[in-house]
Order: sequence, then C-alpha cells, then structure tokens
Amino acid sequence: MPRMRAVIFDLDGVLIDSERLMHEVTGEIVREHFGKAYEPERFAALLGRSPRDAVAELIAALELPCSVDEYLALSSPRLNERWASAAPIPGAARLVRHLHARGVPIAVATSSERPSVERKMGAHSDWFGLFAGRVVTSTDVPAAKPAPDVFLRACSLLPGAIEPSECVVIEDSPNGIVAARAAGMRAVALISDSVPVAAYDAAAPNERLLSLYDASPATWGLPPFADRVARTVPCDAPLRLRGEVVRGFGRGSKELGIPTANLPADAYAELLCAAACGIYHGWAQVDDGPVRKMVTSVGRNPFYGNKMRTVEPHILHAFSDDFYGATLRLVIVGWVRSEANFESLEALIRAIRADIETARVALDEPVFAAARSDAFFVQPAAST
Ligand SMILES: [Mg+2]
Repeated sequence: MPRMRAVIFDLDGVLIDSERLMHEVTGEIVREHFGKAYEPERFAALLGRSPRDAVAELIAALELPCSVDEYLALSSPRLNERWASAAPIPGAARLVRHLHARGVPIAVATSSERPSVERKMGAHSDWFGLFAGRVVTSTDVPAAKPAPDVFLRACSLLPGAIEPSECVVIEDSPNGIVAARAAGMRAVALISDSVPVAAYDAAAPNERLLSLYDASPATWGLPPFADRVARTVPCDAPLRLRGEVVRGFGRGSKELGIPTANLPADAYAELLCAAACGIYHGWAQVDDGPVRKMVTSVGRNPFYGNKMRTVEPHILHAFSDDFYGATLRLVIVGWVRSEANFESLEALIRAIRADIETARVALDEPVFAAARSDAFFVQPAAST
C-alpha cells in the first residue's frame, strides 16, 4: 500500500450518530402518514445518497402516494429538530483530534445538504472546528455519492498537493465506499448494524473496521496513537448503567465457567444504541457492596449470534451466591477490543480469559482506577 497522507471522513454514521435519527424519523413518517412499515436493513442502498435521491427511492420502494417535495415537507422539520441531538460516534473525536494534532490533513465529504450539515456539526464545534472548513456537501458538487465528486473536491481542498491515491476514506455506507473507490482512494468501511454484510461485500472496501476505537493510523503509514494504557483505550466518556440483575442466557456459568451478571435490556437501551460493540473494562458494584473490577461485552456476541445487543458483565470476584434481584451499577471506562467470532468454544474461553487479565492490569492504572470512586456508585455510609 502506498503511504497515505490524509484522511477524509464521511459525516453521518462515521462522525456522528445521525443515521439512527434518520431511520427513526423515516419509520415515524411512513407509519403515521402512510400506515406502512420501515425496516432499515431493507434500505441500506439509500444510505449515503443525497436526501432527494434517497427519498425518491423510498417512495418508489414503498409505493408511497406522495411526491419527493411532499415527503420532504413532512420529514425535514422533524429531522432539523433532532440533528443537534445526534451524539458523536464512539472514538470519532479521538481519531480526529489525533490526526489534527499530528498535522495530518483531514476533511469531511458528505451527501447531506449544507444546512443540515451546519446543524449536525454545530453541536460538536469543539472538534468539528478542527476540519477548518474543509467540509464538502452534496450542495457543493454536481453529483452525490455513489459518484466520487464529494471526495475529489475534498481532496482538492487539502493542503500539500495530496493525490486521491494518498487519501484514506472512512465510510459506513456501501454507496460511500463505491464513491471512495471511484475516486481512487483507500476505502475503509466502518461496519453498521443496519447494513447487510452482503452490501459491504458488493461495495468491496479495502478494509473493514467494527469500531473507530480499532482504527490504526499506523497501518496507513500515518502517526500511531499514543494514548493506549495497558493495551486498552480510554473511552470518550465513562458509560454508566444500573439495573436489576436478571437471569441471562444461562451459558456464562455452565458453558464457559465465567459467570456474568445480566441486566434487563431496558436498563441500557439508549446506551446500547449509541455504544460501539466490543469488549470493555470498568468497575461494578452489587447493591451497596464493594466496587470491584469488571470486564463486559457490549453487543451481540457473534459467537452466539444474539438478535439484540446486550451487556454481559463479568465481575472479577468469586461470589459464593447468585445475586439475582440485586441492583448492579457499572461504570465502563476502557475499550479492550472489538467483538469477534471464534472457531470454537475453547478459543472463545481463551479470549475471555485474556480479556479478564487485560482488565485486571489496566484498571490499576490511575486513568482507569479513578472511576472506582465515581459518584454513580453508592457511597459507603460515613463512619461516626
Ligand atoms: Mg454515512
């Protein structure tokens, strides 16, 4: 691979979690106004298209009795209300800040239109400002993705006469991957739950990432991250969740010999939508007991192929009894690795044991140890 010199980011689904809002609003409008169902996975081909192109295809596919303008009159006000609430994609600010600090030219290239881009970026100006205005929208070029126009224009704005072949593009939509490859750039797919694997296969990205936390600029010939602590990455912000311990899949203790304390899905529905799927470490407290080290999966556990995302924490302590019905508090602080599938149960168990050891060591580091006294935990009663 030639040495890469710049990184161009897609916006929706790569820097901010706005595609989820788009799916939400589309589902609402299709149901409320037309009495139809909308399943995001069926419409992966719409992602990355310009709003007008995507709506035209949606109307045709669902046979909605309206024009593109009539549909946009319903959807635009709702979307405009919600854009500012779109959260950053986990690991996005870290990657952008790192590249900027090391002098790597960066830009944004998006199929969204200029006014909505301003709304989406306005809420995160502390790090979106680092793009220094190098943000190309579909309003600025003749054709949106899958045409290469936005990427080629973004490349032309970069300082230092950088060639398209020297640009890495990070994209979550198959259309964006096709556009990046058509521009002659290295296409890195950030894999989304709502896109079928076959759609990525067809777009043929040069590489795939399950999370931006796993991005490795060194593999592109760019300056490596220097912020790993004991082989793990500090989370953008701690993830805090609390719930009553329920019976899980019954395989933690029996099949794996590694008991997990499962929480009901409604205790963390919001967090799960926004989190990157992977293995994390942090701290756990059962009722008002001691705060102990913990390692947890967040996601669908590919080995078991769960339909829904779950959080399955293992506390690094040998409990003598079950504690179903107890209140469990978790403060998640570090990223260990992406979720992975394994060829055998033994390989899965080996990986989990390695994760436990990684967590045990990492949580002694001051940057992670501080959360042990997080205010989210029940504080011990003051002695008198
Ligand atoms: Mg996108």
